[in-house]
Amino acid sequence: NARLTDALPSGLTALPPLREVIARHGLTAKKAFGQNFLFDSNLLDKLARVPGPLSGARVYEVGPGPGGLTRALLRAGADVTAVEMDKRCLPALAELGDAAAGRLTLIEGDAMRIDEPAVLGAPAHIVANLPYNVGTALLVRWLTADPWPPWWLSLSLMFQKEVAERIIAAPDSDAYGRLSVLAQWRSRPRIALSLPPRAFIPPPKVDSAVVHIVPTQAPEGVPVKAVERVTAAAFGQRRKMLRASLKALSGGLEALSASGIDGARRAETLTVDEFVALARCWSKLS
Ligand code: SAM
Repeated sequence: NARLTDALPSGLTALPPLREVIARHGLTAKKAFGQNFLFDSNLLDKLARVPGPLSGARVYEVGPGPGGLTRALLRAGADVTAVEMDKRCLPALAELGDAAAGRLTLIEGDAMRIDEPAVLGAPAHIVANLPYNVGTALLVRWLTADPWPPWWLSLSLMFQKEVAERIIAAPDSDAYGRLSVLAQWRSRPRIALSLPPRAFIPPPKVDSAVVHIVPTQAPEGVPVKAVERVTAAAFGQRRKMLRASLKALSGGLEALSASGIDGARRAETLTVDEFVALARCWSKLS
């Protein structure tokens, strides 16, 4: 698209191929960092479109690695702040920063320890091909943000397909659990893309999927802590009846009776709204 190319800072169109950058900087994928890289620029552009149009938008990217997804986000017109833990990637990313004419800010560090609102200064879309070893922990951190609506505008995140299915699962399915309730009680998750192992280098052992999550209004009178504690207790022993599993939580049985939910039911049969009602009762009583 000639007009789009004209609109890009010339540095971005003149970038060397990703494979060349990886070879020149010796960026062999390391297991310890959960590294499975994406190279296909059509696929990367598709991933960068998941949050919607990004022209002029602020994006926070975790784990840019050699910068394939970062390039796609910059091509889409975003201002990107990226946090990377692997020092080896930083010189390659700095070159991309030079080409991006001020639209890329790099942070070296661990995404689990970043004070995102302070670093970003304004709401941002989060887009990431996450390292599988920290993906779920980061998701829980972002889903349990306080206050709500959170500092992030949307999440577009790569997971192992099995984790993506847990995030969007409905009651009465094996995949339904704590992660489903945490993701669904005040946001709307959907699977936006599915990817086979061969999309990555090196290929992981399992299929992957990109989950898109947009925050919705939070129900009144339900602190995050209450949802976390009630779901942890209920799913901690998912095969047991609630009247047994909620014994582990102080005030759990009183909340169960106040909510009117039958104590003979098991956690995986409760809808997200029923968990919200239970958490509301628990927080009032405790
Ligand atoms: N975005 C690149 C792509 O799509 O090709 C790389 C994705 S790779 C699956 C995950 C990246 O996250 C790696 O570059 C890894 O070094 C980085 N990473 C792993 N743990 C991290 C952490 N705790 N904080 C920040 N980056 C991390």
